[in-house]
Amino acid sequence: MDLYKELARKNKKYVWHPFTQMQDYINEDPLIISHGKDRKLYDVLGNEYFDGVSSIWLNVHGHNIQELNEAIIEQLNQVAHSTILGMANIPSILLAEKLVDISPNGLEKVFYSDSGATAVEIAIKMAYQYWRNIRKSEKSLFVTMKEAYHGDTIGAVSVGAIDLYHQAYSDLLFPSIKLTYPNLYRPKYAGTIEEITQAYLDEVEELFKEKSDEIAALIIEPIVQGASGIIVMPDGYLKALYELCVKYDVLFIADEVATGFGRTGKMFACDHEGVTPDILTCGKGLTGGYLPVAATLTTNRIYEAFLGTYEEQKTFFHGHSYTGNPLGCAVALANLELFEKNNLIQYTQRISVYIKEKLKEFHKLQHVGDIRQSGVMVGIELVSSKSTKEPFHWNDRIGVKVSKRAKELGLLTRPLGNVIVFMPPLASKESELDEMINILYKAIFEVTEDK
Ligand SMILES: *Cc1c(COP(=O)(O)O)cnc(C)c1O
Repeated sequence: MDLYKELARKNKKYVWHPFTQMQDYINEDPLIISHGKDRKLYDVLGNEYFDGVSSIWLNVHGHNIQELNEAIIEQLNQVAHSTILGMANIPSILLAEKLVDISPNGLEKVFYSDSGATAVEIAIKMAYQYWRNIRKSEKSLFVTMKEAYHGDTIGAVSVGAIDLYHQAYSDLLFPSIKLTYPNLYRPKYAGTIEEITQAYLDEVEELFKEKSDEIAALIIEPIVQGASGIIVMPDGYLKALYELCVKYDVLFIADEVATGFGRTGKMFACDHEGVTPDILTCGKGLTGGYLPVAATLTTNRIYEAFLGTYEEQKTFFHGHSYTGNPLGCAVALANLELFEKNNLIQYTQRISVYIKEKLKEFHKLQHVGDIRQSGVMVGIELVSSKSTKEPFHWNDRIGVKVSKRAKELGLLTRPLGNVIVFMPPLASKESELDEMINILYKAIFEVTEDK
């Protein structure tokens, strides 16, 4: 208890937490994690919790996994870090080979960084400079989707479109064109699913017809738009969108930072529809949730446009101090080996069906408006009225309240507004999922029923 009090005091005194209203936060007793094991985290007071949000969408196998720990220790005994600016190190070479091997066919080159946001920055700069290098610099605009989230650096925010997070910086951003991400729960267009899907695609084609000469690239979160509330696109949309990009010579950037590495039941979300983007960004699950490594993958077409003599200055002038970090790359390799050893992609497909079945119960709850799921990415949208889909008011803090109750019951989640996010590690056992989902049900019931 004394240790807890001391840490809580110092936390309040020194740490500024991300995406956190500190005025609220410092008035509550903080959760301070001391260690983890498999799918559970333990706090310094000895309480245990299921990691129901994979430590913000990262964790794959669980915590304190022997093979991953050992990979780091083994590399640590060689070298912790050496730069890959103009030289190389062993793990980053082997990981690049592996990433090219498991990613959609046609992605041939790997550019490393250290977070999803930096992977997106790199994608943007790469796409932009690509057109300059091939003397088509009039293609300079970026197209993104309303409610998109691509990270928090200024470039990534420029292609982001969540007003709550992004509006304060609007004067700092480069302009981007915003289209509408297909949404079947709150569709912008009327008709059958096919007609709605087509209407969303027509929106894209209309823009391309008019402006594709000026458009460098389109960036999208494939299959699932995550931070906007786990919005799952209709079947066929991704492939058709990609084909429009090909038709109008617009580079297609798939931001797989959230969806990559099995999260949606395929290694990459693009695999659902056989799409090879021009540029793919990934991060989060790449190291199994262990260390900050991210990557931007691209095709030979893009890569070769940066080749030239030293004097031509077509070089991609971008890098970070820790680009290609050997410890991170070593644990990423071990993570991907465990995917294979444990047949984790097939396993994920199996438990996603299991989760789907269990979640059917939730439709009985008065305020569960929609349950969206792709693989092991679930969003449960709470509404004040099911029939009108009227949202809860921001000031009701409904998501915050449900997550707080779930925490008391032993499950960590973090809501997106009125959407409860359930994103357990891919390796969660069925018995663990049972416990997690029971807590989730109880928390939603207790907070929202008869309200
Ligand atoms: C989380 C996320 C990012 C940002 O990744 P960070 O590692 O937090 O910078 C970018 N794109 C998508 C789709 C994400 O979900």
